[in-house]
Amino acid sequence: LKLDKSAKIFVAGHRGLVGSAVVRRLRSVGYTNLILRSHSELDLTNQSAVKTFFSIEKPQYVILAAAKVGGIHANSTYPADFITINLQIQTNVIDSAYRYGVKKLVFLGSSCIYPKMAPQPIPESSLLTGSLEPTNEWYAIAKIAGIKMCQAYRIQYKWDAISAMPTNLYGPNDNFHPENSHVLPALMRRFHEAKVSGAKEVVVWGTGSPLREFLHVDDLADSVVFLLEKYSDMGHVNVGSGKEVSIKELAELVKEIVGFEGELVWDTSKPDGTPRKLMDSSMLAKLGWEPKIALREGLAGTYECAFHVSVVNSV
Ligand code: GDP
Repeated sequence: LKLDKSAKIFVAGHRGLVGSAVVRRLRSVGYTNLILRSHSELDLTNQSAVKTFFSIEKPQYVILAAAKVGGIHANSTYPADFITINLQIQTNVIDSAYRYGVKKLVFLGSSCIYPKMAPQPIPESSLLTGSLEPTNEWYAIAKIAGIKMCQAYRIQYKWDAISAMPTNLYGPNDNFHPENSHVLPALMRRFHEAKVSGAKEVVVWGTGSPLREFLHVDDLADSVVFLLEKYSDMGHVNVGSGKEVSIKELAELVKEIVGFEGELVWDTSKPDGTPRKLMDSSMLAKLGWEPKIALREGLAGTYECAFHVSVVNSV
């Protein structure tokens, strides 16, 4: 696909972790005509507002990075929000994008769409082969519906909608909420605050044994632009780093980068979630894309950027 650098591209969710990185990436490779709307300017759960927006703005391309997201605690506390808001946002945006002449849409999901007991590393073909991890099935069901909606519109309308499924992401614009965020920002904030206040210990949830794969959001954004320009097919595409760490190793790494010198205390009353979550990203590798940012380097950069500190001696 040949995209003009002046093509009109709507990045939905441009203030979030993913959307903001996609905007940075699009701009850095020369795209000049981005359409952005904050939550207060355009409520994507409001169907008629979304229709009006598309009918007036007529974007040519859409990156759908708007979603209600959160970590293990937020997902189990607000299941209704997670399923309804995500279904509304994606249904409104995908349907209006098709109806108002968008040429191509990239839908972003998450690795939690896969069954809890999927083979590891998880290939794209594991979708809908088993039960989901219960702590985030509400979000996962919405995202699965989004993938299926893109496929359905491809089939029925010959419309170019594709889906990318990133692994666990991290980066500067993350949500650093202590309870509701994902593990990395939560730990970064907790270690940082412990260091600043001189606390002796930091509580980490679960047993530390779950394995997770992390990808820097700038790498994801690079892959999204790659897919926008180069990929057009039915199948959703995994986007991962291929590297796994245990939550214990991750906690030690964040502790080191932040420079906290106290102890780690494991709160095993908190859920571990799925035991392992590594994506098989070989399809994307075959298409010709690979990640570039190593975890340690990416974490140090994220810490510096989000907490306005400078990391010495750790990279
Ligand atoms: P998940 O990847 O969908 O399970 O979501 P999370 O990023 O929320 O959690 C990943 C793992 O990190 C789970 O095993 C959590 O129990 C563990 N974890 C350890 N400390 C924390 C924390 O402070 N916040 C979160 N969200 N998870 C934590």
